[in-house]
Amino acid sequence: MSSVLSMFKGKCPSCESENVFHSKGNLMLFKIPKMEDRCKKCNYKLNKETGFFTGAMYVCYGLVVAELIMLYLVLSAIFELSLLQKYIGLVLAVFLISSFNFRFSRIIWIYIFHKNKLS
Ligand SMILES: [Zn+2]
Repeated sequence: MSSVLSMFKGKCPSCESENVFHSKGNLMLFKIPKMEDRCKKCNYKLNKETGFFTGAMYVCYGLVVAELIMLYLVLSAIFELSLLQKYIGLVLAVFLISSFNFRFSRIIWIYIFHKNKLS
């Protein structure tokens, strides 16, 4: 359970104390989040190889679809908006949460392969 909590906090899967990302990026300045190559504390290699995070795109896709379905249902239930207004709201939401999705999908990807390595 603590490793799930560490995943949500963005901690290293090995020591669960250091952050995987050293900057969260800034959406308004078009800066993407920066990730450590290795954990500062336990020297765990976070970026395994070139192209390792290609699979994280699929995780990100799943996150975005789930978030958009939930947001669409909330917008439909609470507000009386036209389809165009809902669409604009969803596009804005995707833009605003893109940095979070980028970081969280990579962290999930790291945790998937860390746990598989242990078993
Ligand atoms: Zn570590």
